[in-house]
Amino acid sequence: MKPQDGYIAFIVNPKAGSSSNNLLGRRFAAYLRGRGFDVRTNLTMYIDHATKLAQRASSSYDCTLIVAVGGDGTIREVAHGLDGTNKPLMMVPHGTENLLASELGFDEKLETLIRTFEAQYTRPLDLGRVNDRCFTSIAGFGFDGQVVDRVHRGRTGHITHLDYLWPIWRSFSEYKFRPMNVRVDGEEISHGQGLVFVGNISRYSVGLKILERADFGDGLLDVCVYKCASRLHLASHSIRTFFKGHSNSSDVIYRQGKDIDISSEHGDIFTQIDGDPGPPLPAHITVIPNAVNVMVPEGARPAGFRTRIIRALR
Ligand SMILES: [Mg+2]
Repeated sequence: MKPQDGYIAFIVNPKAGSSSNNLLGRRFAAYLRGRGFDVRTNLTMYIDHATKLAQRASSSYDCTLIVAVGGDGTIREVAHGLDGTNKPLMMVPHGTENLLASELGFDEKLETLIRTFEAQYTRPLDLGRVNDRCFTSIAGFGFDGQVVDRVHRGRTGHITHLDYLWPIWRSFSEYKFRPMNVRVDGEEISHGQGLVFVGNISRYSVGLKILERADFGDGLLDVCVYKCASRLHLASHSIRTFFKGHSNSSDVIYRQGKDIDISSEHGDIFTQIDGDPGPPLPAHITVIPNAVNVMVPEGARPAGFRTRIIRALR
């Protein structure tokens, strides 16, 4: 990529991220300007604004690359706006969790961003769609939906990992294990009490490898159902997931598919998509294969549990 190929559009969520990694996007923009690139920055002002900005940039003949600076929510909105275009996307991890960026092998170092930009190595990224909303990483139905709802009801600005502790505890102590019906590609795989996860990346919050066989570019979504009717059982699932190998347990159902339906007789089940509140059930989930070309660090591996804990504590 050369400066004469066109401008680089930065889409920046000014509310994401702590002040320490606030600088990362600016330092990367300064590096690009130093290399002679025309960097044009747009700040997101409201929900779904990043999608509109990405659509505008992708339809501009003069734009050669879109850089999303923000957390998983911002990256999701930008990816949605780029669906079906061939403009490459690069991400600058800037949020609390950065699930997608961590899965793709990004850390929070300027050198990694520069190395990725210079190598120009891109991979296709699938998107998921729940009803009419896109997601890049993981949608959750039940327990984690309730946690996300609690966190977002009290949210005023940037959130940290500590903001999740009380909502996790409250949700754990009050959770009602509602039955859900899960169908994958027309086959009913589960009907009963439990937690359901559907996604495109292997690692969830703090590196928990819930969808352990997921590949973000294989054209399939991974589905994991934890059969579960009590707090004790939920705790035992968490411990087994932490130590890996849960997907072969008799009380866990693991599938891959392209078309997933989740429904329930109960109207009070919370959902989340990429860490934001999701739509109410019933949910119809499909995959959009190879929706976006993303620039990734060549040969990089998803960050593990230890790395993520260190980052969370910084
Ligand atoms: Mg996949």
